[in-house]
Amino acid sequence: MTAAPLTPSRHVPERTCVACRRKRPQQELLRVTREAGRWSVRAGNRVGRGAYVCADTPECWQEKRLRRAFRAQAAEIAEQLQTHHKDPNQNHSAPGARVSPEVSHV
Ligand SMILES: [Zn+2]
Repeated sequence: MTAAPLTPSRHVPERTCVACRRKRPQQELLRVTREAGRWSVRAGNRVGRGAYVCADTPECWQEKRLRRAFRAQAAEIAEQLQTHHKDPNQNHSAPGARVSPEVSHV
């Protein structure tokens, strides 16, 4: 009966968003880690307990939706999620638009 075919590379781990309760592939979620009694948003660290929140859904980063999972830390986690989402690459300066230090209007 338990002759399930082995498909090791096809398995996509699914996690549930704590805000909207949707099940999604883990890669589409941000992991919030509980460490020493504190929740924090950090990528790539698999220690302690984990909770998951949609990576692309700002509605899921609102304090009131996170309160059920993070309680007193909901506001803090909401802020961390919003900060985390900011793309550091969008701050790139255009090459060739360099301001010459010699130009100075007084
Ligand atoms: Zn969600």
